[in-house]
Amino acid sequence: MKARIRKAFALLTFAALLLTGCGGAESAGYDLPAQETVQSIESIAQSGRRAEQSTENAVQSAENTAQSSQRTEQSIESIAQSGQGTEDTVQSVENAEQGAESIAQSGQNRDTGEEAYLVSEHETIRAAAKGASGGDGIQSGAETEAELHFIDVGQGDATLVKCGGHAMLIDCGENDKGTLVQRYLQKQGVTKLDYLVLTHPDSDHIGGADVVVTKFEIGQVFMADYTKENKTYRDLIGALSDKRLGWQTPKPGSVFSLGGAEFTVLGPVGRYEDPNNSSLVLRLDVGDVSFLFTGDAQEPAETDMLRAGADVAADVYQVGHHGSDTSSSEAFLKAVAPDYAVISCAEGNSYGHPHAAVLNTLRAMGVSVFRTDEQGSIVARTDGKSVKWNSAPSESWQAGERTGSAAAQTVTGIKQSGTQAQAAGDTGTAQAGSYIGNKNNGKLHRATCKHLPKEENRAVFASREEAVEAGYDDPCKLCKP
Ligand SMILES: [Zn+2]
Ligand SMILES: [Zn+2]
Repeated sequence: MKARIRKAFALLTFAALLLTGCGGAESAGYDLPAQETVQSIESIAQSGRRAEQSTENAVQSAENTAQSSQRTEQSIESIAQSGQGTEDTVQSVENAEQGAESIAQSGQNRDTGEEAYLVSEHETIRAAAKGASGGDGIQSGAETEAELHFIDVGQGDATLVKCGGHAMLIDCGENDKGTLVQRYLQKQGVTKLDYLVLTHPDSDHIGGADVVVTKFEIGQVFMADYTKENKTYRDLIGALSDKRLGWQTPKPGSVFSLGGAEFTVLGPVGRYEDPNNSSLVLRLDVGDVSFLFTGDAQEPAETDMLRAGADVAADVYQVGHHGSDTSSSEAFLKAVAPDYAVISCAEGNSYGHPHAAVLNTLRAMGVSVFRTDEQGSIVARTDGKSVKWNSAPSESWQAGERTGSAAAQTVTGIKQSGTQAQAAGDTGTAQAGSYIGNKNNGKLHRATCKHLPKEENRAVFASREEAVEAGYDDPCKLCKP
């Protein structure tokens, strides 16, 4: 449903991109049309509810936006003249599959005078609208099927997106998780990453990136505009330069395609001293289904995005900063309004992630929560209409405990495994001693585990040794086989 409105918004995003003189969404240029756009979005949202004519309305609104943008003509021109970010925009335009040719042409026409520029832009919008209205548009075919793997990397993030033979990795986990991520990707048949997105240079996000860069063919590397003076960062830059790979910081408003899906950069919209707030923020749209990734962005960055009119609404929200209460402010969560949330953090982590405040808000909003600390790697599959998960949502609603000591962590661990053992004993339906591997992620479960993979993805073993020998060496944290 959100995506219906989004279709129209996507067109406006294109419009805004082009209208900013292909200024690569320089912040001044981004703000102006964004405000106009917000109004248009609201009117679209209303008309969208009334009738199926939303596409036509979108074109109309887009035209209105185009017209109103003439008022900002001067700033547009100055941005166009400065020529900054032109490359970014041309690149993202080339990546866009919908109406790619006509968009590219409008880009080329940019210098031939404003009239031609505006005309070709309208054509572009109509071409894109036609695609969005169905038929052979991006909603049909296997190209809109996507798989998202929230890889269990302990305390950190690493999310693989696969769509129509294309792949993107968002973050790579800690320094000691590079090989785990590499093996996970290889098991998934990934040899090439169209995009490697490193949200920000904290080690729990870029630590494993040097391995990933070294081992995989990579299309484009996107990184936050934030430098760190430490070994982790130097290792990454070294690996990139060994592979002769450059990197860019995409501007808010930039759109990139991944197979039949596309992702839009929403942040950061400001500059921050804190690396977390400098996190790149992306919304991935697969057909009608949207996923939001905010890295470790915290409340100031969230608030600034909302003020800038960024469309953060999503069906699936990867909870910012591992479920920390420094992020996922109530206002932001209301704007995202997710049906599902995924929290990537380590069992018994010393930060106490996820924090109770965030869990409580998600629970009050009726959001289904998945957690890598309890359930291991989380896999979401979408056909562009709905989302299916590799396990049932977590029902624990258990917040982490802020600890500094290993002793306290051990106590938590014992308490939990005691509960598991009891639960396993109570169930008693499966044969004692049988183990089930998940063919998708190499995870090993007891047959009594609550979070078994779907029937067709199960590999059954009589003993643990047999399972490990077959490569199922990643034990589920819930049933601890
Ligand atoms: Zn982090
Ligand atoms: Zn961080």
